[in-house]
Amino acid sequence: MVKQQSTTNFDSNNPPKQELIDTCVHCGFCLATCPSYRIIGKEMDSPRGRIYLMDAINKGEATIDETTSQHFDSCLGCLACVSTCPSGVAYDKLIAATRPQVERNQPRTLADRLIRTLIFNLFPYPNRLRTFLPSLWLYQQSGLQKLIRQTGIIKKISPRLAAMESILPKITTSSLYDNLPEIIPAQGEKRYRVGVILGCVQRLFFDSVNEATVRVLTANGCEVVIPKTQGCCAALPAHQGQEEQAQSLARQMIDSFANTDVDAIIINAAGCGHTLKEYGHILGDDPQYKEQAQQFANKVKDVQEFLSEVGLTAKLSPLTDRELKVVYQDACHLLHGQKISLQPRQVLRQIPGIKLSEPIDAALCCGSAGVYNMLQPEVADELGQQKVTNLLNTGADLIASANPGCSLQITKHLNLQNKKIEIFHPMELLDYSIRGMKLGLNRMSK
Ligand code: SF4
Ligand code: SF4
Repeated sequence: MVKQQSTTNFDSNNPPKQELIDTCVHCGFCLATCPSYRIIGKEMDSPRGRIYLMDAINKGEATIDETTSQHFDSCLGCLACVSTCPSGVAYDKLIAATRPQVERNQPRTLADRLIRTLIFNLFPYPNRLRTFLPSLWLYQQSGLQKLIRQTGIIKKISPRLAAMESILPKITTSSLYDNLPEIIPAQGEKRYRVGVILGCVQRLFFDSVNEATVRVLTANGCEVVIPKTQGCCAALPAHQGQEEQAQSLARQMIDSFANTDVDAIIINAAGCGHTLKEYGHILGDDPQYKEQAQQFANKVKDVQEFLSEVGLTAKLSPLTDRELKVVYQDACHLLHGQKISLQPRQVLRQIPGIKLSEPIDAALCCGSAGVYNMLQPEVADELGQQKVTNLLNTGADLIASANPGCSLQITKHLNLQNKKIEIFHPMELLDYSIRGMKLGLNRMSK
């Protein structure tokens, strides 16, 4: 008797493609580089295990349920497996197709729904988030934060809420408004006209990085355009399978750059850059935006990628009177997602006196992974602790990191290990160098 072919347990809305699933030969080379497998230690929390699960669900041999969803949720989306796989398995496409299936077909617990609602209704909307900043500033300045952290009370109520609180950066008055004009002229001869994306977390908590990025670009002959209508790039909902929200934010971003006539669209945050380059895929089923989305994506450049391509023309000065040992921390969405690893190092090496060092496990995720450190705090904490130990073991004077999520995660674990080493975005170091500023003990001395 011929066994009847089972039907798929994915819904019909863009399920993971069987032909992509079939490219996995189950060799297991990816396991050692997968952070969730290294921490959890179970096959089903590895790339190979998740591909087995996708295959079983697609063939009707397993369902999307509480157990299988947990294994997909435990994936950081770091894409280290994509870099490692000798068979070229497109795990990025597979997990990107699977996450919306989980969101649509597996009901979340009440606690899960609450934290996800908070995250997806707040973080991708800088203006909403900004309304909370005065209260958060007061929370930090009044000493309440210190008291609450000492009691550990939030962790007892909700470990995820505690994880969110634990990465809260220092709120300053400059976080309260956007202080960059819409057009900033190039210094000297104009070589390019570029758009700059401000990001959500970056514009609120790392505005100094955006300001440094703009100064570096203008000092190197770029006229900078910053459309005021720009919102979130959609990275956060896209990485978590919130398809409709991601598409809506992507359309809004494309509209805000319409008619700007820029040569390139520059981003200084790794996670955002990866999503911006995926707009053609995110809006691939939208007949009205499909073409514009691909054109937009074709113009997106990580700032380090762009500077490495066009070359630095501004004069650079040493940051210290002695050799400065810097460890560059690879963000997964630059290294694995965009294959950008040489360019940041090339740019940093041009600063006189800088010596770069490499940590052990440089390609392993720090545990930040968008909002992973809030949703899966235990795995994220293990990874954060390991990353900080490896960075410190290089003996570097400072850390360079090109992603706000990584910087927050590393800062948290440096504080937990009581270490005072500072983190800079490479654009901040370049900016200081162009302006002839010297590095002091805390940030820069003017
Ligand atoms: S994803 Fe690639 S490396 Fe991992 S088991 Fe499959 S074929 Fe091997
Ligand atoms: S994306 Fe990262 S966490 Fe997910 S399976 Fe691949 S290596 Fe593991």
